[in-house]
Amino acid sequence: MSFDSLGLSTELVRAVLEKGYSKPTSIQLQSIPVILKGLDIMGRAQTGTGKTAGFTLPLLHLLNKRSQNSAQRSPRALILTPTRELAAQVAESVDTYGKYLSLKSITVFGGVNIKPQIAKLRRGVDILVATPGRLLDLANQKTVDLSKIEILVLDEADRMLDMGFIHDVKKIINLLPKKRQNLLFSATFSKNIMRLADNLLNSPTMIEVAKNNLEAEQIEQLIYPVDRKRKSELLTHLINTKKWAQVLVFTRTKHGANRLATYLEKNEISAAAIHGNKSQAARTLALSKFKNKSIRVLVATDIAARGIDINQLPHVVNFELPNVPEDYVHRIGRTGRAGNEGEAVSLVCVDELKLLKDIERLIKRELPKEVIPGYEPDPSIKAEPIINGRNAGARRGGKNPFSGNAKNHYSNPTGRKRTHSNKSTFRGKFNSGGQRGRGK
Ligand code: AMP
Repeated sequence: MSFDSLGLSTELVRAVLEKGYSKPTSIQLQSIPVILKGLDIMGRAQTGTGKTAGFTLPLLHLLNKRSQNSAQRSPRALILTPTRELAAQVAESVDTYGKYLSLKSITVFGGVNIKPQIAKLRRGVDILVATPGRLLDLANQKTVDLSKIEILVLDEADRMLDMGFIHDVKKIINLLPKKRQNLLFSATFSKNIMRLADNLLNSPTMIEVAKNNLEAEQIEQLIYPVDRKRKSELLTHLINTKKWAQVLVFTRTKHGANRLATYLEKNEISAAAIHGNKSQAARTLALSKFKNKSIRVLVATDIAARGIDINQLPHVVNFELPNVPEDYVHRIGRTGRAGNEGEAVSLVCVDELKLLKDIERLIKRELPKEVIPGYEPDPSIKAEPIINGRNAGARRGGKNPFSGNAKNHYSNPTGRKRTHSNKSTFRGKFNSGGQRGRGK
């Protein structure tokens, strides 16, 4: 099946072919014809599946076909995203695919001056890409009129809820006309998502990308067991010996991201950190330097990295495993995208064995382990608890509040507290098969 048999206008097909896509991805094949019919969609798909083009192309087609409402041009399509980075990336797709059409798009998100956004809105717009908080500010100031919205897209709705945007989203929905087309995309269909969908969608067509796409087959995954305190050293060793030119590294905390980027820089590996405490300008600059390869390593927290679109990213490193196993799948989805090969490696210390088990349970397989000679974990080191993403024992001068009771508490971004017992050391735990020992 090719793009021109989907019913999209020739201008759109031309833009897509110029972008180098030869055929639609599974989610695009499923979603484009349904959206073109004006129907609501509930789509289960993550970043990396081509979902952005899956909703952007038919949205552009429909808006282009319909006449514009008035000279003042209030927005006719609203795309809500949880993060600024994702908003910027979706807007880039809208511009790329819509380059032969005369539709106008504007992106609004927080963390930057609101005035230029207001000025642009005044000049008229067809497609508005926005994060909920800033859009609500604009709506409250009556600088944006949402009463002409024909199509609403909620992108990464699960993240939107996780990040606490539900009230803002509901307020925004109340400002929209009742009659409209709704497209909801989410990586998971949790109870809360189903509840939101119930209120929002009108007999939606359910679209799912096959489960095994969640964990793209081209992605080679590998665990490097290592001691907690030697992770930075091992990462430097891997980058240098394997000559990785472009690596996205995930840490659990903002502080950890900063610390690691500084460490790498000191060791002559160009790096930058992006996380929620950095200004929008700093984040955009770091991302563009990474994209144009003037820095080798981008260190990111989960939320900051969400939705970053970097084509053909060959290496993703989990410097620390995420607290929520689903985030592992999101993270590794950054590599091996749309047919390109990728490698995702995780540096795992004894504290994280329970997190590793949770991930292996989720992806339904044991991940191969490889001990790098010289970095063998010390079997006498005991697991320490991870509290709110931080290793309690790793805090400078900090006293481990759980020492002695061997309980490991950690929380995840949804606020759900989980507790697990973790008495383990590496001995025995990493020797239970799945090993890909190299030996010297
Ligand atoms: P997304 O899931 O929307 O974040 O897209 C993931 C990546 O796949 C982006 O880099 C897109 O540019 C790319 N992509 C989208 N559609 C296609 C396609 N039909 N063929 C090849 N690459 C695509």
